[in-house]
Amino acid sequence: MENIADYKEIIDVIKESGGDAFKRCFQCGLCDTVCPWNRVRSFSMRKLVRQATFGFTEIESEEMWLCTTCGRCPQQCPRDVQQIESGVALRRVATEYGVFPASVKPVRTAVGSLTGEGNPLGEERKNRGDWAKGQSVKTFSEEMEILYFPGCYPSFDPRAKKIATATAKILNQAGVDFGILGAKENCCGESIRKTGDEDLFKRLAKENIKTFIDNGVKKIVVSSPHCYHTFKNEYPQFMVNFEVIHMTELLLELINEGRLQLTEAVEKKITYHDPCYLGRHNGIFDEPREILKKIRGLELVEMPDTLMDSLCCGGGGGRVWMETQKGERFGDLRIDQAVDVGAELLVTACPYCITMFEDSRVTMGADEKIEIKDITEIVQSAI
Ligand code: SF4
Ligand code: SF4
Repeated sequence: MENIADYKEIIDVIKESGGDAFKRCFQCGLCDTVCPWNRVRSFSMRKLVRQATFGFTEIESEEMWLCTTCGRCPQQCPRDVQQIESGVALRRVATEYGVFPASVKPVRTAVGSLTGEGNPLGEERKNRGDWAKGQSVKTFSEEMEILYFPGCYPSFDPRAKKIATATAKILNQAGVDFGILGAKENCCGESIRKTGDEDLFKRLAKENIKTFIDNGVKKIVVSSPHCYHTFKNEYPQFMVNFEVIHMTELLLELINEGRLQLTEAVEKKITYHDPCYLGRHNGIFDEPREILKKIRGLELVEMPDTLMDSLCCGGGGGRVWMETQKGERFGDLRIDQAVDVGAELLVTACPYCITMFEDSRVTMGADEKIEIKDITEIVQSAI
């Protein structure tokens, strides 16, 4: 099947998605110099933008599904081409036609599960709050100060559940008045939107917004930078504005106010990975580092590709659900970087990064060399 989407259709969808900024591209190629794909295989956002401009995008091509929406290339672009929005618009065309290469097919499974159960992991909605059993976690009610929204992976994934339980322990220890929505919580919808499924995103977002309003939610603390990003920057499109904070922001606040005492030493050399959607997309770089520096015994070292130049874990843009060939996983590169700077622990603050790095650690056989932890797990061991 070739070129089934004609120029007009692509332009229409891109315009609907916020414009046709790709037309401003003058093919300088700066985007390709920073794209992490070019460390593991060849990929050209410049070429994709040119194909979209002239309307000969091969809609069934694998290329348009590679972008992880990491945010590196938009920073470099001298013409404000908005590569992420343009790339997502192309995926919307493919989604409308139902054309997906084999590596993208798992996204369709996620879509089915999101539609029926509100999570991408094939789990039942009614079990969403089960992670909290035995953790002294209450159901959210209007009088409470904070809603804790763990998101899909910390609710269901066995590894990521440790983030939710660590968070609950910390919040209880600090005396924070919080609750969860359990089975009433839905996926935030951020990543499925980046795969081009705008209708499903809107449905998930509207359901969450209704639940927040019906339950009197005003302030939300999240574990995932993806929930953070969409609640803060995308849900306002629905004319709502909830106060949203990432757990790293709340942790630092609790420590600085003396509500959380870091009494235990963690005698480890560690490095911190900036998740794309926490750092580059939302400017939260200092809080996690400040928290880590307050832990006694802990030595913080930086990797190359840090802060604004952080190396993507490979999980954004819905890639967490797609197949990435061995040898092309960014997580492998990151683990090598962490080991090379002598870190015993690679710490991050995102359930997707944890998932991608844990996968890499296993497939690389690096179990003995390095541990992967969420920042909440480190703080939990320091209190
Ligand atoms: S946003 Fe990131 S992954 Fe996507 S094309 Fe740009 S640099 Fe590459
Ligand atoms: S950096 Fe911007 S202008 Fe240059 S090739 Fe990439 S999209 Fe086009």
